[in-house]
Amino acid sequence: ELKNLTSQYNISIYAIGGFVRDLLLGQSNYDLDIVVEGDIQLVISKIIDKWQSKVITHPQFGTSEILLNDRKRIDIATARIEYYEEPGSLPKVERSSLWLDLKRRDFTINALAMSLNEENFGEIIDLYGGLEDLTRKELRVLHNLSFIEDPTRILRGVRLEVRLGFNFEEKTFKLLKEAIENGFLNKIAKERLKDEIFLILQEPQPEKVLKRLEELNALSYILPVKRLPKNFEKKNQILRREFPEKLELHILNIISEADTEEGKKWLQDLKFPKKVLYQFILLKKYENTNTLSEKDIKSLLDLPNDLLLLLSLTAKKIGKNILRIKLLKEKGVPYLKGEDLINMGFKGKIIGDLLKKLFLKHYYGEVKSKEDEEKIIKE
Ligand code: ATP
Repeated sequence: ELKNLTSQYNISIYAIGGFVRDLLLGQSNYDLDIVVEGDIQLVISKIIDKWQSKVITHPQFGTSEILLNDRKRIDIATARIEYYEEPGSLPKVERSSLWLDLKRRDFTINALAMSLNEENFGEIIDLYGGLEDLTRKELRVLHNLSFIEDPTRILRGVRLEVRLGFNFEEKTFKLLKEAIENGFLNKIAKERLKDEIFLILQEPQPEKVLKRLEELNALSYILPVKRLPKNFEKKNQILRREFPEKLELHILNIISEADTEEGKKWLQDLKFPKKVLYQFILLKKYENTNTLSEKDIKSLLDLPNDLLLLLSLTAKKIGKNILRIKLLKEKGVPYLKGEDLINMGFKGKIIGDLLKKLFLKHYYGEVKSKEDEEKIIKE
């Protein structure tokens, strides 16, 4: 469809970036990035007419985002027409938006473009040797200052390294290590850092990405810890399996061995919701607790199951007990509900107290069935 537009209206359209990379690797990618040379508003309005989609413009990034159905998205780079004064030549030279767009990219394999134009549809534009790097399975920056210019590329690079199973090209790896050693990850703005951390967590193998960052001595620049917690991989996989969407929970697991004050400060700096901060404090409270009191059990009972699972993984001595609380809750214990107690003639606050008492009886293994519960209530 885009191809038809190019011949009708004398414009050029190129697919660019991750989409082209993944297409050449035979992997699916739902985000199509395109660069338009010519009347961009026309292209946007045609796409909207054609697919009844929603468009969001980000003037600060010079991009527009078109949301299609089935999670598919088209990002359009607004033509950044820049003029270069060339010595001796009167007219200013207009560099193409495609050229400018490719020049800003992070790795050569992401700096490939594919023509969507009628006359040469499918042709690959490879200004930096990205095709060769794709076959060599290597990540190579476009210039020596790349990681310094934008240190998030260090994190993007490690994500790609793990996800694609690629290696950093030798010189790029040297530049990457130097940028880490010289503390450039500290320069990432907090908001962006938070986004990057969430992107890591959404990778197919976040544990491997984090392990790799640990190996590269990069963790302490982005998290309040130098090392990942003991048995991190196993714990995180359990959390991801049971609660794949609860990314803040995964973060709490990652920082679970942080110093309490450092962890709190980090969560505040990155503007995590207050709730997450309280959860972290709770996690630190139970981390070295030796025994659970009845009072503890009653208050743990009010926590959601995702948090109970996390606590069961991070509390060193009482993890098993916390897991027991979670399992009993999931079993629907106590079997008698508030309604049943009302029918038995109870009223008000006592109902909650009785339910908690019944739960404790289950916890200590003193009751097993609904009949047992009824007997206790009657007594
Ligand atoms: P994926 O979305 O699968 O993680 P992607 O490569 O498509 O991978 P996006 O974050 O969607 O990643 O970025 C699209 C393209 O924009 C990339 O292919 C890359 O060329 C470019 N890009 C993104 N971030 C940067 C950056 N910090 N510096 C330079 N280029 C970048």
